[in-house]
Amino acid sequence: MTIIKKTAVEQRKALLNKEISAVELLDLTYEQIDKNDEQIGAYNSLTKDEAYETAKKVDEKIAKGEDLPLMAGIPLALKDNMNLKGSYTTASSKILENFVSPYDATVVTKLKENLVPIVGKANLDEFAMGSSNENSAFKIVRNPLNLNKVPGGSSGGSAASVAGFEATVSLGSDTGGSIRLPASFCGITGFKPTYGRVSRYGLIAFASSLDQIGPFGRCVEDVANLYEVIAGYDKHDSTSLNMPVGDISASLKQDINGLKVGVITDLLQEGVEEDVKKAILNSIEVLKSKGAIIKDIKMPTLKYSIGIYYILATAEASSNLARFDGVRYGHRTTGAKNLLEMYNKSRAEGFGDEVKRRIMLGTYALSSGYYDAYYKKAQQMRRLIKEEFDKAFKDVDVLVSPTCPTTAFDIGSRNSDPLAMYLTDIGTICANLAGIPALSTPVGFDKEGMPVGLQIMADVLKEDILLKTAYNVEQGIK
Ligand code: GLN
Repeated sequence: MTIIKKTAVEQRKALLNKEISAVELLDLTYEQIDKNDEQIGAYNSLTKDEAYETAKKVDEKIAKGEDLPLMAGIPLALKDNMNLKGSYTTASSKILENFVSPYDATVVTKLKENLVPIVGKANLDEFAMGSSNENSAFKIVRNPLNLNKVPGGSSGGSAASVAGFEATVSLGSDTGGSIRLPASFCGITGFKPTYGRVSRYGLIAFASSLDQIGPFGRCVEDVANLYEVIAGYDKHDSTSLNMPVGDISASLKQDINGLKVGVITDLLQEGVEEDVKKAILNSIEVLKSKGAIIKDIKMPTLKYSIGIYYILATAEASSNLARFDGVRYGHRTTGAKNLLEMYNKSRAEGFGDEVKRRIMLGTYALSSGYYDAYYKKAQQMRRLIKEEFDKAFKDVDVLVSPTCPTTAFDIGSRNSDPLAMYLTDIGTICANLAGIPALSTPVGFDKEGMPVGLQIMADVLKEDILLKTAYNVEQGIK
C-alpha cells in the first residue's frame, strides 16, 4: 500500500524511521490531489507555502533527532470556515470569495505549534449549512468511494480529502452532524467533542451554541491524537471549557469489559435501511463479545430534535450572518444608490439560496410576535432533550445508534426537497442540542459497497470513554 493510504500512526513511524521525509509525504499528497481533485472537489484552495514550510521544519527536527509532536508532518485538510492567516477563507460562499484571513483560528495556532502541515482549505456547504455538500457556492464535492454519490455535509471536503487520500487527517465543524454524517458516508471516523472542548475562536460562526470543531481520520487512534492536539481552554472563546483534557491516549486501548452500552431503540426503527440496521446490530454484537453490557434505551423526545434544531440554528444563524453587510468585509455590490440598497444587494448577490432560506426562517422565529411560540418553546424543548440524555447516562456509559438511517445517496436526489434533506440528520442533531461528545466510525457496507457508520455518544467530558469504545468496535470489526 502506498504511504499516503496509511494511517497517521503508520506515517509517523515511517517518518521517524526515515523511510520517507515529511516533504516527500506532502509531495505524494499533492500528486494525489492533482490527479483526483478536479473530479472530487474536496479543496477550495491549496496552501502549499504553508504546508511545505512546516514539513521542512519537521524534517529538520527528525534530522537532529529531536522529539516530534504526535501529529507532526501529517498532511491535514482544514475546513474552509476556519481562519488560516494569509489564506482565502470563504466558507464556500460568494460573499467571502475574496476574503483573505488576517489571523489564525486557535485550532490553527495549535496545529502550527504541533508542526502539522495544512495542505489546503476544504470545500463545504455554504456557511456549513447542508447535509450533502451540494450547497457550496463554488462546486459540489463527490464521494471518493462512488463519484455519483454525495460525501455528506457540511464538512464534505474534509471527509472526502481523507477518504480520497488527498490528506491523512482533517478538521471539520459540526453544528448538527456535519462531522459525523460525512464520516459515515465516506467510511472514515469523525468526532465531535463536548461543546466547549475545542475553541471556536476563528471558526466562522453558524449557530454558536451548537458549533464545535473536531477531527476526521482513517482510524480511531488518529482521531484521538488529533483531538488531543486541538482540545483545551482558550481565553479567546468565552464558551471554552477550563477543564483538563486528560491523557486520552493512555486509556484508548483499554478493554471495555463491563461497560454499559445503551442502544437507542427510537433511532433503529422506521426509515432505517436494512443494510444499515444489519451493520449496526453486528457492531452491537462486537461490543457484547468484548464484555460490554447491552441495554435498550428509549428516548421519545429525540423525535423533536430536527424541529428544535431548525428553529434554534436558524435563529442564531440569522443573527451571526448579520455581520455580512458589504461594509466591513466580504462582497460589496457596485452602483448602489444608498446605504440600504447597498446592504440589500450585497447580501442578495453574496448569499446562496439555502443561506437565505435559513436567515428568513431564523428572523421569523425571533420576531417579536413569534418569539414565545417558536424560539422560547424550542429552548424549553432543548432542555428536555438534555434531561433525557442525563437520565440515560445514569443507566449507561455510552449510547449507540446509526449515524444516519441511510448510506450516501445519489447526487441531486434530495436537493429539491429541503425537508427530506433536513431529515438526514435525525440521529446526529441531538448530540449538539445536548452539548455531548459524539463520534461516527465505519462498521460495514451496504449492497452497493457504501459504508455504514455507527454513532457513539457519551456524557459531557467523557471523551475518554467514548474513544475507548470506538477503538474497541474498530478492532472487533476488522
Ligand atoms: N445538516 C445540518 C444543517 O444543515 C447540520 C449542519 C452542520 O452540522 N454544520 O444545518
